[in-house]
Amino acid sequence: MAEQSVLVVEDTDEIRELVRTVLTRAGMDVRAVGTGAEALAEVRRSAPDVVVLDLGLPDADGTEVCRQIRAESECYVLMLTARAEEVDLLIGLAVGADGYMSKPFSPRELVARVQVMLRRPRVAPAPEAPAAAEDAVRRLAELEVDEDSREVRVDGAVVDLTRTEFDLLAALASRPGRVLQRETLLREVWQTDWEGSVRLVEAHMSNLRRKLQAAGLSSPEIKTVRGVGYRLVA
Ligand code: CA
Repeated sequence: MAEQSVLVVEDTDEIRELVRTVLTRAGMDVRAVGTGAEALAEVRRSAPDVVVLDLGLPDADGTEVCRQIRAESECYVLMLTARAEEVDLLIGLAVGADGYMSKPFSPRELVARVQVMLRRPRVAPAPEAPAAAEDAVRRLAELEVDEDSREVRVDGAVVDLTRTEFDLLAALASRPGRVLQRETLLREVWQTDWEGSVRLVEAHMSNLRRKLQAAGLSSPEIKTVRGVGYRLVA
């Protein structure tokens, strides 16, 4: 298997070198840059699997860089913030990052978080036997969730979702009608029990809902079970 590539975007030299070193030691192919413009150029050039992105960059707002990366790439984005409070702000802005860490962070935890992202499905797996491919498509009223191509269709038309949004919907669609707790979704989609991440589930769920509504989906519907979680009901 090809080495998995990570792009580190951080303007503070010591932090950038620290992150580069710990990720390289963990066996990843790491590139590191210090500005938003270099980050976008590098994403276009080398298509990294994960981008570790500092919020405070000298030439650009990290949230805007994140949005642009999102628009052009399928990579996962782990955002680094200067303060824990910024995480709430970012989640509110729904910039579409797949995870957040606030500084100072533990290098070991950073490596663990990136490794989890690299283990998540990145490309559609090669189709297996026809029977298995058949099973991989779930049809619920107007909605189709295709685990093989990682596509979601509403009345046959493909909806453009991020991979995190796809994983959330696939988790709900695998157990229609059942309430999935936010903590369960965190474990299944993000593979973490990280405290405070429940807001991350809510933010991505609200983006997912908005996209499905815009695609004209009326059934099934993602229902919120207040204080508990979500379920998909026809
Ligand atoms: Ca910075």
